[in-house]
Amino acid sequence: MSDMPYDVIVIGGSFAGQGAAMMLARARRRILVIDSGLPRNRFAHSSHAFLGQDGRKPYDILAEAGRQLRAYPTVGWIDGEATAARKDEDLFVVTLADGREERAKRLILATGVKDELPPIAGMQERWGVTVLHCPYCHGYEVAGNDLGVVATGPKSMHQALLIPDWGPTTYFTQGAFEPNAEELDRLADRGVRIVRSPIVELLGPTPQLEGVRLADGRVLPVAALFVGPKTSMSSPIAEQLGCGFEEGNTGPDLLLGDKKCTTVEGVYAAGDATTSTHNATLAAASGVLAGVAVHQSLALH
Ligand SMILES: Cc1cc2nc3c(=O)[nH]c(=O)nc-3n(C[C@H](O)[C@H](O)[C@H](O)COP(=O)(O)OP(=O)(O)OC[C@H]3O[C@@H](n4cnc5c(N)ncnc54)[C@H](O)[C@@H]3O)c2cc1C
Repeated sequence: MSDMPYDVIVIGGSFAGQGAAMMLARARRRILVIDSGLPRNRFAHSSHAFLGQDGRKPYDILAEAGRQLRAYPTVGWIDGEATAARKDEDLFVVTLADGREERAKRLILATGVKDELPPIAGMQERWGVTVLHCPYCHGYEVAGNDLGVVATGPKSMHQALLIPDWGPTTYFTQGAFEPNAEELDRLADRGVRIVRSPIVELLGPTPQLEGVRLADGRVLPVAALFVGPKTSMSSPIAEQLGCGFEEGNTGPDLLLGDKKCTTVEGVYAAGDATTSTHNATLAAASGVLAGVAVHQSLALH
């Protein structure tokens, strides 16, 4: 354990965590970033639409950003997992998987979310390459091919209406959602074909996708599937600290009050764990806002 408490411990050193840490480093605060190195988009071969980094591997973007961040003399970095956090008088105490404890005046949680894909054979191993969550991130690369949307609930209607801008679209309702008459008209206007027999298997040499086998035995050609996975917190630390949650579009989001503060005073949060809009640029931007808010909470109190 360091003798002197840090000003801030940032748990999670990906887009949101590094965005926050950079603001605090530039404000010359003593900070510690703890990161277990599992960013949500690690399954993708390339990341898209992050300014200046289009097409680079997610880990390469983060490694370069991390090098620049660690060049600031007040930044500490631990590759590891924070397993617990608690308040001890005026300080927060964070326990690492190796038993170490670190203390800080403020905490920023930037631990992200994890995805739960529908249990269809062949889906997990294609995640991020031909099974996709976001057309803005990965639609361009599969455009013009036969595309599919796999329903996980009513919100998949939105994806089914959007995806035709990238290619001819089939909406697989999977028994998870049945469009009403008005929704059927809207899907027809967009040229979306509807298939109700559930997909039971994805076909083709992974991670490529050539088609899907349906429960009724048919095989349909598809080059990429879009799906809205359920999400949950990657780390239990927010819950341990007593932070409040609200129901988001894909799962629980951390409830934030003014200036990125959670419902627990001194605990701030940023990134995918705090919003239903999941995107690296937005995660980095919310980290920047959290970093600035935390700096000002330290400086102006
Ligand atoms: C398959 C896929 C592809 C995507 N492609 C794109 C894309 O091309 N462009 C785009 O803009 N967005 C893309 N996204 C969205 C993007 O990945 C997220 O919006 C972004 O990663 C969120 O950043 P974050 O910092 O909030 O969380 P994450 O990137 O998930 O990072 C969380 C970090 O916290 C660490 N962590 C978690 N718990 C602990 C703990 N207890 N102790 C220490 N560290 C911990 C993790 O190891 C990880 O490094 C994609 C998402 C997916 C699922």
